[in-house]
Amino acid sequence: MFLTISTTGDEQNPATDLGFLLHKHPDNPFSTKLSYGTAHVFYPEASAERCTAALLLEVDPVALVRRGKGKGRGGAPDAALAQYVNDRPYAASSLLSVAMSAVFKSALNGVCRARPERAQTAMPLRIEVPALPARGGAELVRKLFGPLGWTRVDAVAVPLDEQFPEWGDSRYVRLVLEGELRLADALRQLYVLLPVLDDAKHYWVAPDEVDKLLRAGEGWLAAHPEQKLITSRYLARRRGLTLQAMQQLELVRLAESDDLDVESIDNAVDETTDTEEKPVPLAEQRRAAILDALRAAGASRVLDLGCGQGQLVQAMLKDAAFTEIVGVDVSVRALTIASRRLKPERMGERQAARVTLRQGSLTYTDKRLKGYDAAVLSEVVEHLDLPRLPALEYAVFGSARPRTVLVTTPNVEYNVRWETLPAGHVRHGDHRFEWTRAEFRAWAREVAQRHGYGVGFVPVGPDDPEVGPPTQMAVFTMTAADDAAKPRGGETAERNGDRTEKEANAA
Ligand code: SAH
Repeated sequence: MFLTISTTGDEQNPATDLGFLLHKHPDNPFSTKLSYGTAHVFYPEASAERCTAALLLEVDPVALVRRGKGKGRGGAPDAALAQYVNDRPYAASSLLSVAMSAVFKSALNGVCRARPERAQTAMPLRIEVPALPARGGAELVRKLFGPLGWTRVDAVAVPLDEQFPEWGDSRYVRLVLEGELRLADALRQLYVLLPVLDDAKHYWVAPDEVDKLLRAGEGWLAAHPEQKLITSRYLARRRGLTLQAMQQLELVRLAESDDLDVESIDNAVDETTDTEEKPVPLAEQRRAAILDALRAAGASRVLDLGCGQGQLVQAMLKDAAFTEIVGVDVSVRALTIASRRLKPERMGERQAARVTLRQGSLTYTDKRLKGYDAAVLSEVVEHLDLPRLPALEYAVFGSARPRTVLVTTPNVEYNVRWETLPAGHVRHGDHRFEWTRAEFRAWAREVAQRHGYGVGFVPVGPDDPEVGPPTQMAVFTMTAADDAAKPRGGETAERNGDRTEKEANAA
């Protein structure tokens, strides 16, 4: 198994800095024994202009088989020849990835005391793996490395036998990557993608594999179009672990993309209304409408889903009628701000016991959200991509199933009344869509029907005769038959629910 990493440089930034970054000196060949063989690092070339480091892994197939035997099989002798005579010693694979993590540990972490600035900056890199087992072939190799910032991703199938081209291609490709990347990023990609391509991970997949994947995937995996394939193969197709990893990655993606300035445009617009008194900001009017609806429903244990910076939670705390308040948001940053606002450390014990802030994504079911009187989704649905909405629908209406659900969202028709909003623009950069009244109602009615709720609509803010109110609110109430212990209504709802759950898991 063989992999080379090359870079170019000049007098000022000599290519031989690669030695510092990899923590392996170009003049001193390095070898270390691993449990399944020996890893060598050496430099076929090392000048200021060009420097190449080679990682060679000599696998001892006997040690490999013995090692795999350790657990569980009761040591029964298994003489299958294939265990000893196979491609493991020659092909780049998960073993190479394990070796990389052993010999290039600091480089993978982007740590370099001698050249800290070079470790943090992109450099010209060329990586070559002459024999990479690739289930899915050259095409998959291109799909995996293509979106990762390389200017050249060259994957050529290796013929089974060069002398007999008519025999066709082997399952190996020769891989060449070229581009300007941080060395640590390049190594992390390889660390994950070599075993993904090999798809024959030989070692035990432990739950901490998820953490390893997330750490190595930092900065590139959350947005990768092949994220699902990568995650599933890396975790040896263990479904539970794959879902866990993908959920974490979704949190990362949302946290990276979110923008919490939700109230700014509402407030900016409110300032332009010319009334005598100081106008009440729309966000405040929304909270008042929500509190009214919650009180009317007699709710005391309330979920604030997508609680953002915690303004509604704070308002609810002021009313003793709300005995238990749980704020959930995907964004750690929002929750930190919410927690600062609420100052739980200054609350008395009983007050503090009333409120919980929790990180989570609303597109996944969560048992802890079951059994509440009411859930509020204030200005949240429009932050989800439309295809993710069924997953949220199932998590809230199918799984958590509070008696009352309040959903507020902008009424896009009203946008023409807002002078500060250019025509055709949504109110907030992170809004994935904004609905007309008819669209919102159609969605809400379908949701209600699918899950055994009734639904009514309440305008929030000035209800314009032509374009309606700036904010629209749907009040869902579980229908009596459903209110009993039974988790869900008729057969149709059952089937719909199931389908949505599958979608949620598949997405
Ligand atoms: N409810 C607050 C905040 C609305 S902004 C208010 O009315 O002011 C939308 C919030 O939804 C953001 O804080 C965002 O982080 C959160 N959010 C978006 N998608 C989410 C998801 N899938 N799971 C949980 N929270 C999400």
